[in-house]
Amino acid sequence: MSEAGTTLPRHVYVHVPVCRSKCSYCDFFSLTPDRLPVTSEALVDALVNQARAWAERGVPPAGIDTLYVGGGTPTMLGDGLATLISALAIWAGAESDAEITIEANPESVTPEMLELLAMAGVTRVSLGIQSLDDDELAMLGRAHGASRAIDAARWVTEAGLDLSVDVMCGLPGQSAADWRQTLDRVIATDAGHISVYPLSLEAGTPLAAAVAIGDAPEPDTDVVADMLLEGAAVLKKSGLLRYETANYARPGQESRHNTAYWTGAPYLGVGPGAHGMLTAATARSAGFIVADGVDRVRYAIACSVETGLGIMPEVTVELLDRGESAREDAMLGLRLTRGIDDGLASRAGVTEVLEGLAADGLVVHADGRWATTERGWLLGNEVFSRVWAGE
Ligand code: SF4
Repeated sequence: MSEAGTTLPRHVYVHVPVCRSKCSYCDFFSLTPDRLPVTSEALVDALVNQARAWAERGVPPAGIDTLYVGGGTPTMLGDGLATLISALAIWAGAESDAEITIEANPESVTPEMLELLAMAGVTRVSLGIQSLDDDELAMLGRAHGASRAIDAARWVTEAGLDLSVDVMCGLPGQSAADWRQTLDRVIATDAGHISVYPLSLEAGTPLAAAVAIGDAPEPDTDVVADMLLEGAAVLKKSGLLRYETANYARPGQESRHNTAYWTGAPYLGVGPGAHGMLTAATARSAGFIVADGVDRVRYAIACSVETGLGIMPEVTVELLDRGESAREDAMLGLRLTRGIDDGLASRAGVTEVLEGLAADGLVVHADGRWATTERGWLLGNEVFSRVWAGE
């Protein structure tokens, strides 16, 4: 459901910028504990204070629908994570049926922690498993092995929490059989939601450097496409249906928080490295300088504990006019398998673009909606870039 007309954000993302170690492929903002210039307790206090400061800046939370604490590795906060969730849920007036998600990594969760988090209001855990092959996990620089990951998944469901699992395909040296084995073992965890990401080689990461100098094989795009197709087929057979480019769920287990991102709903971002999106009116009341004609304000908080953790963090801002907001909604909406309706396509001025994409076999039009075909799903970047460019 689109919430584009809603003024106050009903969704909050909080970024916890700490990880036990850095994975070889990762370019997210996170620091290892030895590089974190504050204690865990001070980090929790500062995140809560930054969240509370939004109310003082004219953006009181209005009974939030979703809260997502990501990172980084929020479970590195130990019991402090339950303190953070409790304080945020009270501050935000989380509704009784709010979806409260934490990201977790297997090495830093315990059964006791998960029970504490459930009592603090957490409803859902997004567990970063990535692979269930120990050699692949070592190559990725993950801080856990396969058996710990399976234990952690079991602890999540035993604590009565909804389980979402992240896995990656297209890993250097990963065979079709390896991928199938990880898929089967992930499905066996009984996760109600699974995210499947092809490995992306990000500039400046150790894995990208290893591939560049020939120490690791470059993933083959045709092989990756076959793995994605295999993943979709196997997950579907197990009742997990693809509802977005990378996301599969049993009916009713779709991520409400991420769906808000794809349907143009405003959201607050809190913490260094977090992003947020506000309507122009809300952004003005929060003190952003927003010219007439701007419809939507996207902001990104500095990837720095020194400048991104205070109550007035350093931000970079992107301003979108009404046409750009509509094109953005159309582009993001096409990530969803249900696609977008004719009305949004028309408001965004992309009907002709979609007709061109349909002629190329990348989208299809049926019952007043535009949605990607299987080919359009696999070539999503081409679809999204043409819709965003409006040509
Ligand atoms: S656990 Fe996640 S955020 Fe942390 S280093 Fe690994 S990939 Fe990056």
